[in-house]
Amino acid sequence: MRVHVPPHDPVSRFASEAPNDAAPARRLDGLGFEPVLEREYRLHMRADQRSSTLVCLVTALGIWLIFIGLDLTRLDDLAASARSDLALELAIGLRLATLAVIVRLVWVVRRNPPVQSYHHLTMLTLALIGVACAFISNMYKLRGLPQADIAQLVIIAAVFLPVGLTFLQSFGIALLIAVFTSLLGFVMLGPAQLIEHGRLSILLFFAVFVSAVGAWLRERAERDQFLLRRMLHNRAMSDALTGIANRRGFEEHVTRALQQARRDGVPVVFAVLDVDHFKRYNDRYGHQAGDIALALIARAIDSVLRRPMDMVGRLGGEEFGLLLYDTTPEHGQERLEQVARAIADLRIEHAASPTAQYVTVSVGAVGFDGQETAADLYRRADAALYAGKASGRNRVELGEGGERLAG
Ligand code: GH3
Ligand code: MG
Ligand code: MG
Repeated sequence: MRVHVPPHDPVSRFASEAPNDAAPARRLDGLGFEPVLEREYRLHMRADQRSSTLVCLVTALGIWLIFIGLDLTRLDDLAASARSDLALELAIGLRLATLAVIVRLVWVVRRNPPVQSYHHLTMLTLALIGVACAFISNMYKLRGLPQADIAQLVIIAAVFLPVGLTFLQSFGIALLIAVFTSLLGFVMLGPAQLIEHGRLSILLFFAVFVSAVGAWLRERAERDQFLLRRMLHNRAMSDALTGIANRRGFEEHVTRALQQARRDGVPVVFAVLDVDHFKRYNDRYGHQAGDIALALIARAIDSVLRRPMDMVGRLGGEEFGLLLYDTTPEHGQERLEQVARAIADLRIEHAASPTAQYVTVSVGAVGFDGQETAADLYRRADAALYAGKASGRNRVELGEGGERLAG
């Protein structure tokens, strides 16, 4: 095999940079991923739990309104036995503030387009529900009125429902409610009620523990599912030989990029790159050498297209698609010449090529006119490529219409 091969094994090195399937490292608690993946997971999880959050919220709203109704039926008793108006006012304030926060959260979660980070408000809502219930049930107890302080157990279990929080966020809120409820009882209640309250407090911490174990197991399973789905998606969208996007992955990105460019009025250059005389290369050096050359070429293109919205994909065979975002045709031509140079600089020997001693490429490029579809762009870029091949290969040919966005 007379291909120029750098000291390291190019294919395996390149493949290791492809979307990797290895299970990512997890935090000590068996959850959390590295920051970028973690962010992706949380966005996905919140979007996924949006409807269950809404169901939980509407249920909470209904229960809260019933509580308010019950309060109203006992308002006379409460007022009659009130030792201080301040406590009563505080209780009413907490009931209404919690109601307002629940309603606000319903509104935020229902919003279209969906809000990405409603978790702070969710945590506040849950904490407020816990605090309000603890305070009000103590107030009832102090006045000898019937109450159900055991409801705190239900609230703690509810904190772990799928409402867009991570395990640690739910665990923190549940622990906060348990600690607050325990401390508040010891501060507010009289000595006769303390033994009963101690028992409740122990139960609360048990509830936190048992619910947390369930929630931890659930989140671990959800994260495994997320990784599996992501891995399958990456495999479906990437090219096994070169590790870059395949045609499907590339087209998906192009469609999204064109929509965004249309919205933002940003110029885009679309190009098709084809290896010159690659059939002769295979005939001369063998198919395996051809595969290595394709992997090296893909890596060379990828190393030039480093901007976030730029993209390269293998359209099939020895043909690659390139998208240069926020780039005028003029600037695009320069960058594509840089790509062609990077490939030529690999100096992959090609003694059978009538064009050069080493592997070269031809590129057809066009500027997005702001309206056309990806298929229109491809057709025009392919026509430019054909013209480039016809006029001698080893060149970047700017197609018609490419100048439209230049000014
Ligand atoms: P031109 O300069 O006009 O593009 O000539 P060409 O020989 O490159 O074009 P043609 O379309 O005739 O041949 C493309 C060749 O690419 C044919 C095939 O042997 C080779 N090829 C396509 N896919 C692969 C691949 O995955 N691996 C290898 N090694 N070769 C491939
Ligand atoms: Mg070719
Ligand atoms: Mg071809």
